[in-house]
Amino acid sequence: MTILKEFLQPNLVTAIYCTPEDLYDKFLFTKIFPMDIPNKEDQGTIIEQTHNRAHRGFDENIKQISSFDYWPKMHKQFKEYIRNCEICNKNKYERQPIKIPIGEVPIPKEKGIQIHIDIFYAQSLKFITCIDSYSKFLVIKQIEDKINLEDKVLDILQSFPNVKRITIDNEPGFTTVQFKSLMQRLQIEIFFCNQNQSTTD
Ligand SMILES: [Zn+2]
Repeated sequence: MTILKEFLQPNLVTAIYCTPEDLYDKFLFTKIFPMDIPNKEDQGTIIEQTHNRAHRGFDENIKQISSFDYWPKMHKQFKEYIRNCEICNKNKYERQPIKIPIGEVPIPKEKGIQIHIDIFYAQSLKFITCIDSYSKFLVIKQIEDKINLEDKVLDILQSFPNVKRITIDNEPGFTTVQFKSLMQRLQIEIFFCNQNQSTTD
């Protein structure tokens, strides 16, 4: 405000040009004075609590808190948090289902067509494993973390250029929208193994 007063002449109508992003991030319409939240940790807690209460969308979340709390990047951070929210992503996915066959996985008749992907833990190490259901040919690769699993799968799929079907256990990293849409793009069918039937352990 002090900056505005310094530059604007009194009794003169002045227009300020700004992009919608500026408008949302830097200006706030409110009837009560919101609290400044400068601490990053507090910001995170507020985002988490507000969103996780009911997993509502961005607009509603912002509406819920913007009268009470304010920090400059709150809109951006909220958007990012919601975009990465596993529950919301899962719901979004279930509302527009990419068809995933349930039931029996076909028995492969050739090698390299159907593979089983899994994450395998040994002590503190993680590995991504990929086994050809027909030939039992196994590719195993150590991974640092489970971030961007799609890239790691893409990498390992180079050993299986003809793959049409992938079976996976209920590894959470493989149930994300990102993973499913990658498989859809590659025209690979995903089969989620029934845990009771799982034979690889
Ligand atoms: Zn959510």
